[in-house]
Amino acid sequence: MRRACPKCGSKKIAEFMYGYPADMEDWLKKIDSGRYHPGGCCVTGHDPKWHCNACSLDFYKLGEVPPWAAEMDAPDGAESPGSR
Ligand SMILES: [Zn+2]
Repeated sequence: MRRACPKCGSKKIAEFMYGYPADMEDWLKKIDSGRYHPGGCCVTGHDPKWHCNACSLDFYKLGEVPPWAAEMDAPDGAESPGSR
């Protein structure tokens, strides 16, 4: 999955996971890896889909971009090298 933050362009994107984890230890490991972000147990239908680990921005899947993000047409490949 190639996805970049609409705000800072970082590729360090975590996917929101909603609901309760069946395996808490595995869950924490996933969060720690930066690949997932806990979204809570309640889904409202307007929940962000991805979380940027670089700037902590929550954003949405395609077709569900918030107004502020729709104006930003970030060209693909405009990434900054990760510094970690
Ligand atoms: Zn970001």
